Amino acid sequence: MDSAVRDIIIMGTGPAGYTAAIYSGRANLKPLVIDGFQPGGQLMITTEIENFPGFPEGIRGPELMGKMRDQATKFGAEFVSGSVTEVDLSRSPFCLTLEDGREYFTRSLIIATGANAKWLGIESENRYRGKGVSACATCDGFFFRDCNIVVVGGGDTAMEEALYLTKFASHVTLIHRREEFRASKIMTLRTRKNAKISTMVNQVIDEILGDGLKVTGIRLKNVQTGELTIHPCDGVFLAIGHEPNSKLFNGQIDTDDYGYILTKKSSTETNVPGVFACGDVQDFTYRQAVTAVGTGCMAAVDAERFLESMR
Ligand code: NDP
Repeated sequence: MDSAVRDIIIMGTGPAGYTAAIYSGRANLKPLVIDGFQPGGQLMITTEIENFPGFPEGIRGPELMGKMRDQATKFGAEFVSGSVTEVDLSRSPFCLTLEDGREYFTRSLIIATGANAKWLGIESENRYRGKGVSACATCDGFFFRDCNIVVVGGGDTAMEEALYLTKFASHVTLIHRREEFRASKIMTLRTRKNAKISTMVNQVIDEILGDGLKVTGIRLKNVQTGELTIHPCDGVFLAIGHEPNSKLFNGQIDTDDYGYILTKKSSTETNVPGVFACGDVQDFTYRQAVTAVGTGCMAAVDAERFLESMR
């Protein structure tokens, strides 16, 4: 048990958490940063990042995260490995308990626990992740110029990603497990009107096929007839939803119906004074590293002002 009461604890080490650590460290608040189950966040499993400002040659996700961590360390951030399994935000200082029973107390808390793309859960998906399988068109679409791509899902994200990918791909096939699309009418209409997009319904991916180095196709299963067919393609984009990592705060922090943490307008304040949220756990609209960096900075500034008002 660490009985000292910290000024600031940051949960999560994606771009939002690291930026909050850099800013609060530089403000001399000696932040304690709890790594979480995937240190570095989603960018640790991405390939090249070409749209992060300041890196005209592009930078690999793990390298960018490593640089952010070094920068936070330079300004006095202290890192703790482990995952928080319990939070008590009912009184100040807030109490966080890690899986091994360690307890930490803090006057302010920044939640930067991120979100995870949902995956199909088949083995071949893991094998070809980063070799043709992706869950982010904005991140990886550029690498599929003149390629034949499939997008899986029937919601607005699937439509949006399919439309976005037509900028690069020679053809995009939307694959959906039902006949009706969950997506809004306008988005569905836009995809229908796009000559580069075709749809296959009542189909699920049974297997992602490849030559060991890259994706070469998918095996589809018709959910009504059970028939298996092969569809050749170069890339598979999954757009079957995201899950924000907010379950730990259920009943204490307000979220929307999808579990995204609600923050006040133009701020990172949550419904609990002294608790701030930034990055993908509170943003389902943009979900970009740069926007996470932006809200991470906001959270650190908001926390600093909150602590100032307490003195
Ligand atoms: P949704 O939950 O709306 O859609 C997920 C889609 O993936 C559904 O069609 C679902 O099928 C399908 N799916 C889920 N699991 C599987 C699986 N294991 N195998 C195959 N298919 C699967 O998520 P979205 O990310 O699309 O959207 C989330 C929210 O964000 C929505 O409110 C959406 O409107 C909003 N959004 C808005 C945008 C905009 O306004 N421009 C852009 C993007 C998102 P089924 O339909 O059968 O359940």
